[in-house]
Amino acid sequence: MSRLGWDAVNTFVAEFNQLDLVGLVRQAERATAAQVEAALAAGRRRSLADFAALVSPIAGKPPYLEELARQAHELTIRHFGRVIRFFAPLYLSNECINICRYCGFARDNPILRVTLTLEQVLEEAQYLRGQGFRHILLVAGEHPHFVSGNYLRNCIAGLRPTWPSISLEVGPMEVEGYESLVKAGAEGLVVYQETYDRMVYDRMHVSGPKKDFDWRLESPERAYAAGFKRLGIGTLLGLAEWRQEAIAVAAHAGYLLRKCWKSQLTVSVPRLRPAAGEFEPLVTVGDRDLTQFICALRIMYPEIGIVLSTRESARLRDGLIPLGVTLISAGSHTEPGGYTGQGKEQLHLTKGGRQVKPQLPFIESEGEQATVQFHIADRRSPAEVVAQLQRMGYEPVWKDWERVLNES
Ligand code: SF4
Repeated sequence: MSRLGWDAVNTFVAEFNQLDLVGLVRQAERATAAQVEAALAAGRRRSLADFAALVSPIAGKPPYLEELARQAHELTIRHFGRVIRFFAPLYLSNECINICRYCGFARDNPILRVTLTLEQVLEEAQYLRGQGFRHILLVAGEHPHFVSGNYLRNCIAGLRPTWPSISLEVGPMEVEGYESLVKAGAEGLVVYQETYDRMVYDRMHVSGPKKDFDWRLESPERAYAAGFKRLGIGTLLGLAEWRQEAIAVAAHAGYLLRKCWKSQLTVSVPRLRPAAGEFEPLVTVGDRDLTQFICALRIMYPEIGIVLSTRESARLRDGLIPLGVTLISAGSHTEPGGYTGQGKEQLHLTKGGRQVKPQLPFIESEGEQATVQFHIADRRSPAEVVAQLQRMGYEPVWKDWERVLNES
């Protein structure tokens, strides 16, 4: 064992392999009213079996869904107040060596690709600062040539003087790789498992390093060992049955809260959105399902951050905010250069990792921009979202003071 609890043998993978996920999903499907009431009354002693009851079909109907919503709202106010933190994704690159069937950046999609230079990244970031953001999430496809550790370190170091909070959503790394990014100034690491169903995961991740389920599942622990102060996990809803994903991500969150207790934990619940490749969700996750999932997560873990991105519509986002959401994005672009048009000159068309001639048919982008990872649903500007939050009695928070506290 070395560093902050990094032990390559005793990771969540071992616990996940012992988890009776099938049994818990069966419990959820068969939960009775008495079990839902017991789970709602269990307080801090809630188990995964209680969580299964909270995401059960019966808990998703009156009168229980209303009670879930009431408790989730009350707990959120108690732990976070009427405060919503903002972050902005900044896409660095849409080059990727993986083929994930649901993603517009997949290697085999013939799309316009680019990796922004440091100067272009700073231009994009400057625009976002002008919108009010102070927490930035750097997002990139997984490509060792274009998105190397060195490239990421340079981007972080360039942004650090003007960005109090820098998080990353990039391909998983060894502890040493993560350490160098922490040293450069990154404090948050987001890595979604996408799906916790091993068979679906294998089918969805056709080729590339991402095919290794366990390597990805251990990433938050490697990031913690490297010193990241914030860890983000999540499941991409639409790939496998949502109750199963909810129970698995709750198990993962519970494990990380115990093991990685010095870091803040956020859980994200993105639903699949249209993207290049025109992948259709394998399962339907309705608005009511998503609402129930968020309420159950909040009740189970009152202290975790819950992230809701612009993948969801304005109407739904406004409705979900009082139920447990603590961190949102606004006015997002999911392509490199999307905010200011940076990188247009370097755009190139690739398919299967190779550059192809522009006259070949390719997936159109909006104007002469790099192709987006997925299309967003809430197109309101940050200012419009802030105004709506204020009408709802919430205070928007742009700047996180954690770094100051950490350094004091
Ligand atoms: S989901 Fe990530 S790893 Fe997979 S193709 Fe898209 S950018 Fe690459």
